[in-house]
Amino acid sequence: MPVQEFDHFNAEAKAYQLIQECCIRDPRDLQDLEALAWQMKVYVETGGIRGCDGRLVRRGKHGIIRIRENIDEPGRRRFIIGHELGHWLLHSEESQVGLCTAEDMDADAQREYRHSRPELEASAFASELLMPSKMFRENAKALPEGVQGLQALAGLFSTSYTSTAVRMVDLLDEYDMMVIAGPNGVHWWRGRPNVRSLWCEKRQQIQPDSGAGRIFASGDKSFADEVPWDVWFPHVSVPVGQSIWEETVFFPNYGTTLSLLQFMDLE
Ligand SMILES: [Zn+2]
Repeated sequence: MPVQEFDHFNAEAKAYQLIQECCIRDPRDLQDLEALAWQMKVYVETGGIRGCDGRLVRRGKHGIIRIRENIDEPGRRRFIIGHELGHWLLHSEESQVGLCTAEDMDADAQREYRHSRPELEASAFASELLMPSKMFRENAKALPEGVQGLQALAGLFSTSYTSTAVRMVDLLDEYDMMVIAGPNGVHWWRGRPNVRSLWCEKRQQIQPDSGAGRIFASGDKSFADEVPWDVWFPHVSVPVGQSIWEETVFFPNYGTTLSLLQFMDLE
């Protein structure tokens, strides 16, 4: 699957600048995101929109972020606020930023051609704002690896497991790929920069011997073990004996799994 190249430097730089201006030094300083928005003259309201997760309305020097009702996951709600603040700071010249769908919120994570440039930029901004690179790396060092680390980081930054896992793959050298899958196949994946020549096929079948496959078969909540290379990459040949350390967690509300893959060194 091709990866859309886009210049996210400016989006991340704007988030970095905001963090510096607001003297944010610790994940706890990021907890009250609505107060941060208020400092920017942007007010957050719940409800009043349909067919999308969030929308930014401009009223002169003020902005209103509307968020869909019934978004149960606090991390998801925070990402929407971050995404709309990205539009506020980055896209004041755009004639109309459209309604931001759930897919748009994952735009930076998936980086597919179907997402427009403003959506990719707004989500890149949100990732850097909610999980600033330097702060994320420093905190990750003191935490366990794998799914335990994912849960701890998501708790620390009050972010969703999905957006946190994307950040782990982007920023921490230990992780090579994260994959979101359902019983009918791979939904999407993200590889770290130096393994982006590797890919999962769209709707790639979930192999029974993968951790995700075992979870779908057994109903277990999590999995952590070594698996053969070809349960995830049957279409990419590698030296005999190459294997993968897979840690997978199940999301019962969505019926999906999130897998963190680490390619193991050959002995
Ligand atoms: Zn958007």
